[in-house]
Amino acid sequence: MAKRISVVVSQSPSKNPAKRKLEEDIVAGLLFENGIDVTIVPNLYDIKPESTGMLALQQIAGNVVVVSWLFERAAHWILDRNTITGHVGEVLLKNEEEEDDAEAEHAGDEDEKDRVIDSRSLKNRKIYCLDLKISNRAEDFIEEVKRIHQENAVQIVGLGDIINGGTSMPTPANDPNFSPEEGGIDQPSIVNRVEESGGRRWYPVIDYSRCTNCMECIDFCLFGVYGVDAVDTILVEQPDNCRKGCPACSRVCPENAIMFPQHKTPAIAGSSDGVASMKIDLSQLFGAPAEGKSAEEIAALERDEQLVAAGRDAVGMTVGIPRRQDDKSKQTKDDLDDLVDQLNDLDI
Ligand code: SF4
Ligand code: SF4
Repeated sequence: MAKRISVVVSQSPSKNPAKRKLEEDIVAGLLFENGIDVTIVPNLYDIKPESTGMLALQQIAGNVVVVSWLFERAAHWILDRNTITGHVGEVLLKNEEEEDDAEAEHAGDEDEKDRVIDSRSLKNRKIYCLDLKISNRAEDFIEEVKRIHQENAVQIVGLGDIINGGTSMPTPANDPNFSPEEGGIDQPSIVNRVEESGGRRWYPVIDYSRCTNCMECIDFCLFGVYGVDAVDTILVEQPDNCRKGCPACSRVCPENAIMFPQHKTPAIAGSSDGVASMKIDLSQLFGAPAEGKSAEEIAALERDEQLVAAGRDAVGMTVGIPRRQDDKSKQTKDDLDDLVDQLNDLDI
């Protein structure tokens, strides 16, 4: 009946002392919490698929809380792509602005497009991702882990009770031994530390809750990074073929489903901040940054830079772009219409 929860602490790749201290303070705080197991791993994004670190993560059963320096969405889909699947667990410790933006961004999503996630089966568990960039106070993360642990312990003890033919969920009223603090769990923490030095990596991560399997990315990338699985679903087949520092294909994905979790631009690194940029800076609308170039033109320039660096010929806008361009011009028009409607509604 005892329900333990696992917490994975993914370390910063930078070895920044302040970041290390926050990580260690969180681990130290959780050591005294019964029923919580902690696994400390190097930066999740850098862990190689066949490595000890990934095997350790794959062996974790049940619900898991991941504490990392990555945006929640990036952490979730890095795990998913390494067969560590589950449903997104709701966390309360999050960037409020980003939360509002995510809601706004999905508010018009009733377009009923087929997303890759709709055709996949996930393990029956929850994965909660906490972003260490949100607070510099270890207590904030410890409290949120405890809240999640308690929520899970109570829910699952209740379910087990029903399966076993019991009559009710234990509560302080009907079970004198029940402690809401511990959720009926009295085993001390186990801490597992995985040391690995595989070096930094750079590759795209696909968010399947957004991806529509349109194949724009595989058409665009000329470095053989993308492929398809047995049922023709897009995947990152050769991640280490990706050109370090290049985020080009993330700019051509119509669904903003491609993340580069270590990129300095939050929207490319996995933040849900796409709509915020519209609100804050109208000059950045529709991915048309400073020099007046479209997102596709910038992506083509970035790709050419990498082609030339690899000793190949630049291709400009001649490969992997036309279909996207057509859709984009239509979408841009639709977006503009929506924006005008919103401004009219605001009466300004
Ligand atoms: S371009 Fe984006 S939406 Fe299309 S297949 Fe690639 S990741 Fe999915
Ligand atoms: S960033 Fe460039 S090299 Fe890497 S997957 Fe995208 S298009 Fe290919």
